[in-house]
Amino acid sequence: MQIYSADTIYAEGKALQDYGIGVENGMITQIAPVAELQQALPQAALTRFSDAMLVPGFVNSHNHSFQSLLKGFCDDCDFFTWRDQALYKYSQGLSRDDLYTGALFAFGEMLKCGITTVCDFFYINDQDNDNARAIIEAALDVGIRIVMARTMYDWDGAPKRFRETIHQAVQNTEALHREFLDDPLVHVLPAPHSLHGASIDMILAGAELAAQLNTKFHMHIAEGQYERQMIEERHGKPPIAFLDELGVLNERLVGIHCVWLDDSEIQRMADRKTGLSYNPSSNMFLGDGITRIKEMQEAGVCISLGTDGGCSNNRASIIEEMRMTSLLQKVKFCDSTVTRAEDMFAMGTFNGGRNLGLPIGELKPGYAADFTVVDLNDLSMQPRQNALKNLVYSSQPSAIQAVYVAGEKVFEAGRILTVPEPEIVRRVQLTTQHWR
Ligand SMILES: [Zn+2]
Repeated sequence: MQIYSADTIYAEGKALQDYGIGVENGMITQIAPVAELQQALPQAALTRFSDAMLVPGFVNSHNHSFQSLLKGFCDDCDFFTWRDQALYKYSQGLSRDDLYTGALFAFGEMLKCGITTVCDFFYINDQDNDNARAIIEAALDVGIRIVMARTMYDWDGAPKRFRETIHQAVQNTEALHREFLDDPLVHVLPAPHSLHGASIDMILAGAELAAQLNTKFHMHIAEGQYERQMIEERHGKPPIAFLDELGVLNERLVGIHCVWLDDSEIQRMADRKTGLSYNPSSNMFLGDGITRIKEMQEAGVCISLGTDGGCSNNRASIIEEMRMTSLLQKVKFCDSTVTRAEDMFAMGTFNGGRNLGLPIGELKPGYAADFTVVDLNDLSMQPRQNALKNLVYSSQPSAIQAVYVAGEKVFEAGRILTVPEPEIVRRVQLTTQHWR
């Protein structure tokens, strides 16, 4: 049993002074004024962070970890050049070990930015689960919580390594889910790739599997304008309306991106309680457009944030995504009042937990003891009037003092405590040095 306390703890949407959290077996058991906690738990060891704010760890609800290896290889290209000349080209040659390296790289960077859970949308499956296991191993070695969105992909225009039959995809995804059922740091859910990467039957199978396993399922939706047009031409309806007609627009589905939606589709998402994983930096990097966050918030859609892959961002910080979400809406509406830092923070933490179907992203009894300690003496956190607004709008990674996942300290004072950063750098250089 442990007690962690700080000058300020951000919980239940409020900054609480001199509070603490009780932690046992990787979970938060209590939250109360620290003096009360010490009385109630006399045997518990107390760790006190002074001049610090304790916040829930950030939740990255969408990423493709291997893509971190491709940073800089096709930046400033159009989407199809980027996809064909970087993504498809280099992903052909990646070994299991390379995939592990890419994941160490991505997850290590995330820890340094205060992220405690990542959802890796993984599709280089080779009709098996061994590559996905390499990603999970990297997460466990780094010490980050992982949600493996195991992709179900059958479009024959994509590289063979991505593709499976519906039967293979269902069997493998279900087997991987069951394999890690007892691991508290790993959760596996189905991820039919998109309306262009997965057939209708594959999407139906993914939705059915999610219901059977009682998980969410994730899918890319309407990222580029071309995608919306393509679906309308093929099916006579825009993507969200079409998914609704298929019967898969429900509370288990989390749409990734959803840039090109009309009013009625936003309302349908809200009515069906379908979530959104929003990736503003990636959408900007690839010139996709601006998702209608203000309207979606007003309609009541649960919006979480994601960094997307490392070669379409090219950073790995949810703080950055909170800032970008807010700034993009302000500039789109020419109105600085349309977004609030507190709502951005909820998108980067609590809503991520909801969209992954896990008790994470909040400092509250029954939730995972995943938290980030913010140094209130960091220059980027001055002045101290409103630490939460500073965290969203002005903080730099130097303000991340320590990171705990399931009650274990995995990052402190600029150092990843699990896998040494020089080792990750060495591996990345070795993997990518001969690429042209
Ligand atoms: Zn993606």
